[in-house]
Amino acid sequence: MEFHQAVREVLASLAPVVSKHPQYADSAVIRRLCEPERQIIFRVPWVTDSGRIEVNRGFRVEFSSTLGPYKGGLRFHPSLNLGIVKFLGFEQIFKNALTGLPIGGGKGGSDFDPKGRSDAEVMRFCQSFMTELYRHIGEYTDVPAGDIGVGGRELGYMFGQYKRITNRYESGTLTGKGVSWGGSQVRTEATGYGTVFFVDEMLKSAGSSLDGRKVLVSGSGNVAIHAIEKVHQLGGRVIACSDSTGYVLDPSGIDLELLREIKEVRRGRISDYCDLRGGQSRFVADGSIWDVPCEIALPSATQNELDETGAAALIRNGCRIVAEGANMPTTPNAIRLLVGAQVQFAPGKAVNAGGVATSALEMQQNASRDSWTFEHTQDRLSKIMRGIHDRCLETADEYGSPGDYVAGANIAGFTRVADAMLALGVI
Ligand code: NDP
Repeated sequence: MEFHQAVREVLASLAPVVSKHPQYADSAVIRRLCEPERQIIFRVPWVTDSGRIEVNRGFRVEFSSTLGPYKGGLRFHPSLNLGIVKFLGFEQIFKNALTGLPIGGGKGGSDFDPKGRSDAEVMRFCQSFMTELYRHIGEYTDVPAGDIGVGGRELGYMFGQYKRITNRYESGTLTGKGVSWGGSQVRTEATGYGTVFFVDEMLKSAGSSLDGRKVLVSGSGNVAIHAIEKVHQLGGRVIACSDSTGYVLDPSGIDLELLREIKEVRRGRISDYCDLRGGQSRFVADGSIWDVPCEIALPSATQNELDETGAAALIRNGCRIVAEGANMPTTPNAIRLLVGAQVQFAPGKAVNAGGVATSALEMQQNASRDSWTFEHTQDRLSKIMRGIHDRCLETADEYGSPGDYVAGANIAGFTRVADAMLALGVI
């Protein structure tokens, strides 16, 4: 279902491209792009602390290597299945193309749930997962990174196992590594920071800024936490964030240090936030974060989390910008409603591309055995996000849909991959 949704969303933008450039239709570029180059599914057996044997399923979909090695994250979540990995891999092709960097598209993960597992269990799972995955990846082949449920801890265990099996310190095989063992500054922050840099560009192009804006950020994971941080640095105020159990409303602004302590150190639930924070903050169990009045909404949790009801609430309450920090968090009907109500809408493949772009910067540093400063890397990220933003608007203009970020992102991403595919022949 999710895969078809993602394909339909891209194809809906391509009619003007194919009529202007019939060579794309003649060479079956679109049909070829919809079929992954390779799909790998494997067994992941591992042993719990109590000695029970568990078996999970592992996936890696190597979608397109036209522009570079397959590149895209690994997700560990009980809901993961092949359709979700294919949707994420398909999106990744165009997102990576939009960055202008030499990276192809892929995605992977497992239906393993790290929640409630001990560090030792997570380590044994990651080692077993990598014991199969290692034969398919490499710095010139396929370079995974993190995603939902896969952060620094999981990447560390996987890189350790890869290094041990191959007897090679091949840093460029995984990105999102810790800074002391081959990682890049700003990679952890990059998706959330990049999301806010993109929104800042949207506001600037309308002669405005983030200063004083009320913002909602759904989720409270890697993307959400760093989006909240950058909104606050640029003068905005995030008044609500969430997890899968409900949302927290804090009218004076989310206390980021407290949120980090709960999510990153204690690995707790967001409901703990209000008990510790007090004041006017409150936890709304099973409520919709989109009911909270705001000017800017950044859905940053998971796919299809913002539906028609959520979109209608945002419109009713005067929201002006929706920008996707997560991958495909807004349903097609919700997008139609938002756009129809003149809410500026920007899709994940453009907005959240800062994560993979910084992964590509990590690969550059690994290849040249170099390590850049935080300031330099953040500066590169912000220029890349400005480039993506401008490319979207210029492309939308060129194809007769001024101001349409969805058309701009889909067409700019597609044409870059499609032109390279034409050059490489029927492969
Ligand atoms: P994390 O695992 O760090 O955080 C995910 C957050 O989303 C958690 O707060 C989680 O809540 C919530 N969430 C997950 N599934 C659901 C669900 N079914 N319903 C409600 N809430 C849910 O992941 P990331 O922050 O890394 O990823 C978030 C999104 O951003 C994903 O769409 C991912 O693909 C995308 N993305 C991530 C990139 C990265 O660099 N990490 C790069 C580009 C895109 P709970 O803890 O309760 O499950």
